[in-house]
Amino acid sequence: MAAGNDGDEIERFMAGLERRNPGQPEFHQAVREVANTVVPFIARNPQYQGAELMERLTEPDRIIAFRVTWQDDAGRMRVNRAWRVQFSNAIGPYKGGLRFHASVTVGVLKFLGFEQIFKNSLTGLPIGGAKGGANFNPQGKSEHEVMRFCQAMMLELHHYIGPDRDVPAGDIGVGKREIGYLFGQYLRLSNRFSGGVITGKGQTFGGSNARTEATGYGTVYFLQNMLATRGEDVAGRVATVSGSGNVALYAIEKLAELGARVVTASDSGGFVHDPEGIAGERLAWLKDLKENRRGRIQEYAERFGCAFHEGKRPWRVPCDFALPCATQNELGGDDAKALLANGVVAVAEGANMPSSLDAIHAFLDARILYGPAKAANAGGVAVSGLEQSQNALRISWPFAEVDERLKTIMRDIHDKCREDGREDDGFVNYVRGANIAGFRKVADALLAYGVV
Ligand code: NDP
Repeated sequence: MAAGNDGDEIERFMAGLERRNPGQPEFHQAVREVANTVVPFIARNPQYQGAELMERLTEPDRIIAFRVTWQDDAGRMRVNRAWRVQFSNAIGPYKGGLRFHASVTVGVLKFLGFEQIFKNSLTGLPIGGAKGGANFNPQGKSEHEVMRFCQAMMLELHHYIGPDRDVPAGDIGVGKREIGYLFGQYLRLSNRFSGGVITGKGQTFGGSNARTEATGYGTVYFLQNMLATRGEDVAGRVATVSGSGNVALYAIEKLAELGARVVTASDSGGFVHDPEGIAGERLAWLKDLKENRRGRIQEYAERFGCAFHEGKRPWRVPCDFALPCATQNELGGDDAKALLANGVVAVAEGANMPSSLDAIHAFLDARILYGPAKAANAGGVAVSGLEQSQNALRISWPFAEVDERLKTIMRDIHDKCREDGREDDGFVNYVRGANIAGFRKVADALLAYGVV
C-alpha cells in the first residue's frame, strides 16, 4: 500500500469493523485510534502483511454474557447483565479489570478489552487482554447488597477464570471491598486458595504492596518521564485532575508529594476548585471521604470553603498539567482547546480513553506532551502482574521494592513509546509509539502461532 493510500485503507478497515459491530461507538473510537497508526505501520512492514492482523485483533477470542440474579435488602429480586470479554491471550493469560457502573454495555467492555491488549503488551509482562463487568450501579447500595451482588456475579464468573486462564481485577466501581467479596466467593466455590486468580486483593490475603497506588503513581511517573525529555519537572507547577476514585486520589497524592499544586478533583456531580492545592490534611480528608465514608466531592468544597462547579468538568481551570482520571470521553475537543489556550504543557491520562479523537488531534497538533492511557496508566496492570508473580512465588515484596519496579516499568514503557513514536522533526507522538510498540509484540506471537 502506498503512503497516499493510508487514509483509504483505514476507512475501508473501519467501515467493515463498524458494520460488524453496530451500536458500539466506544469500541469504534478505540479501534480507530489504533488503526490510524497501526494500519500505516503494517503497510510499511511486509512481515506483518497478508495475515489479517487487525481483523484478528479486533475480534475477541470470546465473550461470555450472563445474568446476575441477587436480592436487595427489601427482599426484592434484582437482575443485572454481566460480561467477560476475553480478547486476546496471545502473550499471557487474559487480564483486565471488572467495572460496575450503570453505563456498562458489551461495547464499552470491548473498547476497554481491546485497549488492554496493547497496554498489557507494553508493560513487558506476560499478560493478555480482557475486561469484564456488569450494569450494576453500586451508588446507594448497602454494604450487604454489594456483597450479595459480588457473590452472585462470581457464582457464574468462576467457571471462566483462573491464574493461567483469566485474571480479573478492579476498575470503576470495583475496589478493594468488591475484590474481597469476589475472591472470598471464589475461595468457597473452588475450595482452593489460588491467590493469582484475581488481583487488587487486600494485603492480608495475597495483595501486593503499592497496587492501590499503582495506577495513579504510575501516571505521574509517566508524566515525569515525558517532562524530562524537555528538561522540565513536576515541582512548582499547577495540575488539574478529574475524578476522585482510586486512580485520581493516588495521582493527586504523588503530584503533591513531588511539589505540584493540584487544584481540582471531581466526581459525577461536578468538580471542586481549590486554589490552595489538595494536599496534606485536605488530601487525607478527601481520601477518607471517598475510600471510607463514600461521600460526594461537593462535601470537600463545603469543608474547605472552596468553589464547587456542579455538573462541570475541570478543563477550563488554567494549569500546566491535566490528568483526566475519571472515565471515557470526559475531555472533548473544546476542552482541549481551552486547556491549550491556557498554556497546558502536558496531558497524562489516568482514565481509559478520556480524550475524544478531536481532543487528541488538538494536543498532537499543538506538539504538547500527550501521554495516552494505554501507556500512561499501565502502572496499575503492571503491579497486578507483579501481584501474580508474588502469589506464584508465595512471597510479598516490600512497598519500596514494588514502587521501584513500577518506576522502572513506567520508564521502560515511556522509552518504548519514544522509540516508536519519534517523528521526523524530533516530536514524540506517544499515541503512535504506544500503539506500535504494543502491537508488535502481540503480532509477532500471532504470526508464530500460524492460523489462530
Ligand atoms: P473509581 O470507581 O475508583 O473512581 C471513578 C471516579 O470517576 C469517581 O470519582 C467517579 O465519580 C468518576 N466517574 C465515573 N464515571 C463518571 C462519569 N460518567 N462522569 C463523571 N465522573 C465519573 O474508578 P477508578 O479510579 O479505578 O477508574 C477511573 C478510570 O481509570 C477508569 O477509566 C478506569 O478504567 C481507569 N483505570 C483504572 C485502573 C485501576 O487500577 N483502578 C487501571 C487503569 C485504568 P462517581 O463516584 O460520582 O461515579
